[in-house]
Amino acid sequence: MRARDLDQALATMEPEFLACRYRRHAWDPYTAHRTPAGYDERLICVRCEAIRHTVYTRRFTIVRTSITYPAGYRLIGLGALTGTDRGGVRAAAMLPTVTEP
Ligand SMILES: [Zn+2]
Repeated sequence: MRARDLDQALATMEPEFLACRYRRHAWDPYTAHRTPAGYDERLICVRCEAIRHTVYTRRFTIVRTSITYPAGYRLIGLGALTGTDRGGVRAAAMLPTVTEP
């Protein structure tokens, strides 16, 4: 039942979200500024518009990183993806691009 739920979620997912899940995000600079303790940087994914927020010390040691995903990106209610699930994500992203020889 769970595999069917995942397949159904992937079938209706935005193509950009599938591409990012398969090929990872394509980060570009968004904002960056100094803070009293170091730096605060936000990157934006040019495909899905997820935002990656990183807080650095003055010497650029990472203090924390978080990602804010766009609505519809997350697979709510399906729990952590297994290796098999990740194969399903890859298949959903790649199979539409496969051409026959
Ligand atoms: Zn993305």
